[in-house]
Amino acid sequence: MTSDYERLAALNKNHVWHPFTQMKDYVHSDPLIIERGEGIMLYDVHGRAYYDGFSSVWLNVHGHHVPELNQAITEQLKLVAHSTLLGMANVPAIELAEKLAGISPKGLNKVFYSDSGATGVEIAIKMAFQYWHNQGVRGKTSFITMNQAYHGDTIGAVSVGAIPLYHDVFRPMLFPSHIIPYPYAYRHEGGEMKALEDTLAALRNLLETRADEIAALIVEPIVQGASGIIVMPQGCLSEMAALCRKHGVLLIADEVATGFGRTGAMFACDLEDVSPDLMVIGKGLTGGYLPLAATLATDEVYSAFYGDYQEQKTFFHGHSFTGNPLGCAAALANLKLFEDRNIVEGVRTKASFVEQKLAALKDRPHVGEIRQKGLMVGIELVQDKDSRAPYDWAERIGVRTSLRARELGMLTRPLGNVIVFIPPLASSQAELDAMTAILSESIISVTEGGAVT
Ligand code: PMP
Repeated sequence: MTSDYERLAALNKNHVWHPFTQMKDYVHSDPLIIERGEGIMLYDVHGRAYYDGFSSVWLNVHGHHVPELNQAITEQLKLVAHSTLLGMANVPAIELAEKLAGISPKGLNKVFYSDSGATGVEIAIKMAFQYWHNQGVRGKTSFITMNQAYHGDTIGAVSVGAIPLYHDVFRPMLFPSHIIPYPYAYRHEGGEMKALEDTLAALRNLLETRADEIAALIVEPIVQGASGIIVMPQGCLSEMAALCRKHGVLLIADEVATGFGRTGAMFACDLEDVSPDLMVIGKGLTGGYLPLAATLATDEVYSAFYGDYQEQKTFFHGHSFTGNPLGCAAALANLKLFEDRNIVEGVRTKASFVEQKLAALKDRPHVGEIRQKGLMVGIELVQDKDSRAPYDWAERIGVRTSLRARELGMLTRPLGNVIVFIPPLASSQAELDAMTAILSESIISVTEGGAVT
């Protein structure tokens, strides 16, 4: 007789095509099948517990099965699960828009809802494009992005993406973007200051010569996530924002990963007092509970779309689930928890604790660099510490380290040779202690092969 696990595993293998996954590898492994969550733990169908060490892909804030969030969703369910924002409004979408305008960098007063980070980015790109068009400015039709940027997987978002492994195959169907270097200090011959200088020089040069072709710069503020949790040198974001402003190019901040306290500020833009023209949020917006995203725009951007119908300034974009009341109710409850529990301040304290706990790893022979902003940590493993030579891809050092962490009771997902640690913001000190211990042990045992010394 087959167990329920075997039945589910077979169905999973036969019918589920997993994202970002080479299915040939996956179908030959025993799948982890999650059944439930409680606090920052996830439990599989065998009842085994795992720390959610990457916040279920960087989005969980208060843990799983949170009474306040559950209740907000249940209360809303009693009223209406969904209607539409096409020509009508709903109560939580209105309340949430006002709250978001209140907590966002100054000037971002208008909220356009969607349902994933990628759709939010898609909207920002189309808004920036049409913003110029609506004002009769022709030719400002292209975008600047940063090397190794990741903004989601829809076609527009991939067009402003610059990770060859994910994006190159699609190039023939994409619109071209200008790519400037990202200041990746660890892998820049001149170090941090030179990396910063090169980025700013490339942006300046592009803006001085081609601003009349460029609608916007899109950037992952302060931390570039999917490229390997790479933190910008201080001042980079604010300098880039000032250059864009000077040359009449819009700034789109993609805060999908960095928003909602993750970096130790409500939004990463706040760390350098930057006010973008458009800002995309997702992931942590509902505490990581439901698929909801939003693109926030300034009054100035909004007013370029405001006019008589025959002027054809309307933004013709929307999704069936735009402004979903359940998602908005969860987001409102999430924001209340941020306030009640002082989450953002808590992140700063917890971040220092994590930094201390991981400090000893710096001396290990295969730990190249530990990068951290708030509770966003990337540990770059290298074959050779002196030359910084990376591990060969085929060694799958990141995957092996994550599998070891899973055996030890923590879930995470690597980015190539970078081990990612992005715990739920609500993790307690004891939980962070346990998770960092697992992280250290898995790195040491996989890269050094022996027991922890
Ligand atoms: N932008 C950034 C910076 C991201 O990190 C992500 C997802 N990791 C996205 C956009 C896409 O979000 P989603 O997966 O919700 O479409």
